[in-house]
Amino acid sequence: MKRRKFLKYSLLTSASIATMDLISLANSLINAPDADKLMPALFVGHGAPTYVLGENKYNLAWKKIGESIPKPKAIVCISAHWLTQGKTALTAMPNPKTIHDFGGFPDEMYQFQYPAPGKPDLAKEISNTIINPSVELDHQWGFDHGTWTVLYHMFPNHDIPVLQLSIDYSKGAQYHFDLAKKLMFLRKKGVFVISSGNIVHNLRQIIFKESAQYDWALEFDETSKNLIEKGDFKSLINYQNLGKSANLSIPTPDHYFPLMYALGLKTEKDQITFPVDGVTYGSTSMRSVLIA
Ligand code: ZN
Repeated sequence: MKRRKFLKYSLLTSASIATMDLISLANSLINAPDADKLMPALFVGHGAPTYVLGENKYNLAWKKIGESIPKPKAIVCISAHWLTQGKTALTAMPNPKTIHDFGGFPDEMYQFQYPAPGKPDLAKEISNTIINPSVELDHQWGFDHGTWTVLYHMFPNHDIPVLQLSIDYSKGAQYHFDLAKKLMFLRKKGVFVISSGNIVHNLRQIIFKESAQYDWALEFDETSKNLIEKGDFKSLINYQNLGKSANLSIPTPDHYFPLMYALGLKTEKDQITFPVDGVTYGSTSMRSVLIA
């Protein structure tokens, strides 16, 4: 390359690099979590694993949530599909695997991968910070579909480290609400805590028609919405006392307990919004609750 041409080339190159640096600096400032502001927290209704496919009302809403919040430093996800007995576990491997924890779905469902990294140093920090209950580091689990069906749309670049926290299924709703409060320091650090389940979830009553809706499912979804808006978390913790529609909506609490984490992470300054809602297949509520 002749000297003049080379100079022109290098000037152009450094100019583009400088422009790119400015753009990325501007982007990081726009997306940087405000030091005084806590990272939002989210309960997401994940529904059928097939909602990961194509575009629908739910995964478009998940995408919008991902675009509307500051870029998280990491994500801690509490999924209804990781239940442990007598302990709380936390994934601590550098590269968690994608778990296809379902049966009888189309082949393409088993090909899905969500290759986000883990974050062993954050896992250790959480385990060291939360003493009671102890949080056990796990090297076996990965991302189950409660996590990846949602994150696939929320953060499609899979470049944010993700940890999964298990649900100690030997404990009740109050325990999970209290444990959520101990995760508050994560919001201060720019970590996005997502809990993934369904407020109404009764697979024994499923109707294989997406638009079907039981009256009791609509009723309990509405009751929950009103109690969440009123800040009456005590009634939601004592869900067994909320009548017949609650009993039908929560035959087992695996998909309901994740809601306790979002409620427990709400501070007085936070607003509550519902980015998406709806009842599908008769007996599943798709309501999400954003705390921000
Ligand atoms: Zn589920």
